[in-house]
Amino acid sequence: MSERQRGGDRAPAEKQDVCVIGSGVAGALVAYALSDRGHDVVMLEAGKRFDPANRLQRMERAIRPEYHLPEVWDMGGERDRFTSSGDLYYALNRTRVKAVGGTTLHWLGITPRFHEKDFEMQSRYGLASDWPIGYEDLRPYYAEAETELGVSGGTDNPFAPPRETDFPMDAFPASYSDSLFAEACEALGITMHSVPQARNSEPYDDRSQCVGYSTCIPVCPSGAKYSGDVHVRKAQSNGARVISQAPVQYLEHDSAGERVEAAVYATPDGERHRQEARQFVLACGAVEIPRLLLLSRSSQYPEGLANTSGVVGKYFMDHLVVRVGAELDEPTNQEPIGYQTRETHQFYDHDDSPPGSVKLVFENVNPPSLAESALRGGDTGTPGDLSDVVAGDTWGDELVDTVRDRMPNRRVGMFGNPETLPRAENSVTLDYEKTDSHGNPVPDVSFTIGGYERRTIEFIRDVQRDILNEMDASNIVDSPLRTASHKMGTTRMGTDPSESVVDSRLRTHDLRNLSIASSSVFVTGGAMNPTLTIAALSLKAADAIHRDL
Ligand SMILES: Cc1cc2nc3c(=O)[nH]c(=O)nc-3n(C[C@H](O)[C@H](O)[C@H](O)COP(=O)(O)OP(=O)(O)OC[C@H]3O[C@@H](n4cnc5c(N)ncnc54)[C@H](O)[C@@H]3O)c2cc1C
Ligand code: SF4
Repeated sequence: MSERQRGGDRAPAEKQDVCVIGSGVAGALVAYALSDRGHDVVMLEAGKRFDPANRLQRMERAIRPEYHLPEVWDMGGERDRFTSSGDLYYALNRTRVKAVGGTTLHWLGITPRFHEKDFEMQSRYGLASDWPIGYEDLRPYYAEAETELGVSGGTDNPFAPPRETDFPMDAFPASYSDSLFAEACEALGITMHSVPQARNSEPYDDRSQCVGYSTCIPVCPSGAKYSGDVHVRKAQSNGARVISQAPVQYLEHDSAGERVEAAVYATPDGERHRQEARQFVLACGAVEIPRLLLLSRSSQYPEGLANTSGVVGKYFMDHLVVRVGAELDEPTNQEPIGYQTRETHQFYDHDDSPPGSVKLVFENVNPPSLAESALRGGDTGTPGDLSDVVAGDTWGDELVDTVRDRMPNRRVGMFGNPETLPRAENSVTLDYEKTDSHGNPVPDVSFTIGGYERRTIEFIRDVQRDILNEMDASNIVDSPLRTASHKMGTTRMGTDPSESVVDSRLRTHDLRNLSIASSSVFVTGGAMNPTLTIAALSLKAADAIHRDL
């Protein structure tokens, strides 16, 4: 690979058809789809490029105590400072990775499609707004996205929206602990089914079959889990150029305010460059996209670029994780499989709402294992904390027995992902009191949930407790509420330019050559993991841009 291909040469590329900003799955798919049709594409990526051959060392970082999670992919520090000002603390640096491949280096890989109702919340329930496109518009792109990412899944889900073909690979088999839930679910009339996921259940696309390391979050050492760098490499082999460590500082527009002319980016040597192109695509995630638009304000657009509507940054959404755990009288053997193999979408399509849609997932992850707890000096944050055991005078078999008593292989858990509705006051704004390493105001994420979410949370907690009671579980405990790292909604799609930022072809209403590929365009967030929908929308945006070029 030449210095230019590795990203060491950071001078702008001349005569480019398309400049894609951000190289996560969204940017990578746009770059791949357009370069595959012969267009000249350059990608600007704020983060570093990691060598896939070093994934094993990254996994070591994930399991050794001297590292914190964001350090696995070199996150954090002045570059990634942020503010969280809502009722729910938003730990932004745990929800994203800035690197070639983006956050999918770190994600879990669950890839359901949205249901029809997710696009029609206003028409069906009088809530939020409808999307300007429906499930049928996205359906062919969903199929394409499943092929590109490589999704393993089954046709055993009676609640799934209509699909055209089987998944590219078979679903993973149910885990042992899934079988422990199964009897209770059957008694309660709850149908469990397989989980579609971008993880190879057999060799696929020159990547190996999953070998069960269970460190999918934050790193898959084998490459069996899909990550965006796969399509970055495919785009590069089509001739696309990737400039890493090149955070875009702002966008410049022409005197008419109709077209973007250049993306101005910084390089590690302190230089600034202008990347020109005919078309620009923002694919830098649902927090950095609105931030960049707000940072790109001009005399013509004093409230920020593409922000005539005033809604850039508003309607921020994330999913919630509502977990209930308990203990059984028998071993659960959850630890060997780190990802989910069974879930249910039975509580998704309500006749009336609230409660909102919920996805209920059966876990395969025990609390931290003995080895992990010992490595972390007992700092597990769970009730079964081992610090006093490991720090004590007990050794050998006696120690193992003591630990087994403290950390019994009897824990089970489930979690629901309840739907959150878009609220204008949940937002990404600029915090002018705090700057990043380039002197730019940092993003301030403000996220608070309301009554709709609370009713949905109570509903799904009750379902989980019913299942655990049916299993005769003891010590049933609610875990603290947390967010799922599914950032959405900050440059919403719509037909009315006074209420939305992009149209149904993902182009900004204000600028004729600026499109957005991201969950930032979601109008509502449903309760399904967002990335397959991001991928489908990215392929749709690429189609429209191709027609324009
Ligand atoms: C722990 C965890 C688990 C997850 N599990 C799942 C899951 O199971 N299923 C699911 O669907 N989703 C999951 N997600 C969410 C999923 O990872 C994201 O939805 C997805 O990766 C977003 O892709 P993206 O390309 O839009 O953005 P990103 O992957 O965030 O990519 C954006 C890229 O833009 C770059 N960038 C930012 N600012 C600039 C700038 N100014 N200039 C140039 N480049 C810039 C960043 O460095 C980054 O590389 C998970 C997330 C986390 C954190
Ligand atoms: S369990 Fe499979 S997908 Fe997860 S880290 Fe291991 S090999 Fe990768």
